Amino acid sequence: MGNRRFSGKVCRSIPALLVCVIIACLLLKHYGTGKSASRSVFAMDTYMELTAYGAEGEEALDRAVLEIRRIDELLSTGNADSEVSRLNAEKEGVLSEDLGYLLERSIEINEMSGGAFDITIYPVMKAWGFAGGEFRVPDDEELSELLAYVDMSRLKYSRESGRLEMPRQMELDFGGIGKGYAAQRVAEVLAEYDIGGAILNLGGNVQIYGSKPDGSEWKIAVKSPDGALPYLGILSFEGFSGGAGSSRAVVTSGGYERYFEKDGEIYHHIIDPRTGKPSDSGLVSATVVCSDGTLADGLSTAIFVMGYDRAVELWRGHKGEFELVLFDEQGKLYVTEGLDGSFASELEYEIIR
Ligand code: ADP
Ligand code: MG
Repeated sequence: MGNRRFSGKVCRSIPALLVCVIIACLLLKHYGTGKSASRSVFAMDTYMELTAYGAEGEEALDRAVLEIRRIDELLSTGNADSEVSRLNAEKEGVLSEDLGYLLERSIEINEMSGGAFDITIYPVMKAWGFAGGEFRVPDDEELSELLAYVDMSRLKYSRESGRLEMPRQMELDFGGIGKGYAAQRVAEVLAEYDIGGAILNLGGNVQIYGSKPDGSEWKIAVKSPDGALPYLGILSFEGFSGGAGSSRAVVTSGGYERYFEKDGEIYHHIIDPRTGKPSDSGLVSATVVCSDGTLADGLSTAIFVMGYDRAVELWRGHKGEFELVLFDEQGKLYVTEGLDGSFASELEYEIIR
């Protein structure tokens, strides 16, 4: 009786053992005995760090860098030959697949955010000197003239033909969404290679893909706006599996990223389209966690402009689609319910439900 039970156990454990060996072999092949590759890139006006784990990490990251440069060349407002610059000059054109996609996502985020996210903000960015020029403080009259043409609903775009037309005074700026899109695209490109996982840091837009070779959790620090703290907290995620969809983006927007000071006032680079001025919503930083990198980036900009109340209302209407970490001027830290368990901080924080 005892013997039979014993042999039964052995019989059952042989297939289990085989499965384990096969999984171990696959992991070893996938991760290439723990090989990791990394690249530092300067693109889209920021420093980027890419790390991939796996047998084809080097090839995958070479391709990733090409993809980032390709998107940078499409979106760069500093390069007169980019697709966006040509559109801004000619006021019409048939959009490439990338730009058509980005425009459609931008329209979606503009609508979700009640206009807080608006890519027609570019003339206002220029007036403040955030588009390469000299920093200056435009007066109210100048801003109100420019604001008459900050309104995405005035873009004429046909999804069928991909054709866009805009008023002569309008210019586009994908700076609030471009890095998230690039990170998302890179995660998609990586899925074509034999790698197990990757972490992509595109100047604060962090995207994690797959899982780590040792099976440990991904850990992402949520940036702190003031120098007193190294970070607001740490987000931990289990690895993801399942190809291109197996990633997560963590994107932070804050007024402390790019700013200038004049007469003791700080002026930062995220503009409230209602006023034409640096947004003053009471939030110091807004972090969005989402499986869609493009949405995470656009929303982080939008939510920073929207402020706490409107942000929470938006989140409640879209539960499960994204999560938030918000830090306000009073030093209060908030985390939405879906991150309860993934977020750790030395600061006290409140859970938004
Ligand atoms: P960063 O690029 O510093 O990581 P964001 O993703 O928040 O931060 O993007 C800020 C950029 O977005 C600005 O530099 C500008 O190009 C653009 N921008 C500023 N205000 C808005 C707005 N209200 N809606 C859409 N884009 C904006
Ligand atoms: Mg953004």
